[in-house]
Amino acid sequence: MAQNLKDKEAYQRLNYLYQAAHCVLSENPENVELARFYCFTQKTIARRLVLRQDPSVKRTLCKKCCSLLIPGVTATTRQRSKFRKTRFTVVRCLSCGQSKALLNNPDYCLWADRPEAQLAQQKQPGDKPLNNTAPQLLRGWCEERSGAAMAGVEPTPTLREE
Ligand SMILES: [Zn+2]
Repeated sequence: MAQNLKDKEAYQRLNYLYQAAHCVLSENPENVELARFYCFTQKTIARRLVLRQDPSVKRTLCKKCCSLLIPGVTATTRQRSKFRKTRFTVVRCLSCGQSKALLNNPDYCLWADRPEAQLAQQKQPGDKPLNNTAPQLLRGWCEERSGAAMAGVEPTPTLREE
């Protein structure tokens, strides 16, 4: 499947930039600006080519200032609860103060991993044969979206991160 991936080089570049951001921060925690530049470039490439990034990657990037969120270095993590039942992990960016709340639920299933998402994928016309794993489906989805973007059609996001 990997050799069929249309935007393989772009994905490799995203991967490189993400790792580079981690690398410069681990060498010197003062390199926040450089890490932010890498993450900003990563975000720009992904947006331009309409490539979907994994939620685990998205959750470590600040939505507002594109900082790489490393707990204790560039971000704080706190546990919060609502109505004494639902518990959240709140990650707060130390650069801009933007925070994101992630529900503490080990049984939570992302939309992309649910069977409904695969059915929705199956119904699209001119689609490739259905594979068993969600990541492969998502790659096909990304290829289609990027094709649509090049044809000047505004892609409609149907898959959500959280
Ligand atoms: Zn931020």
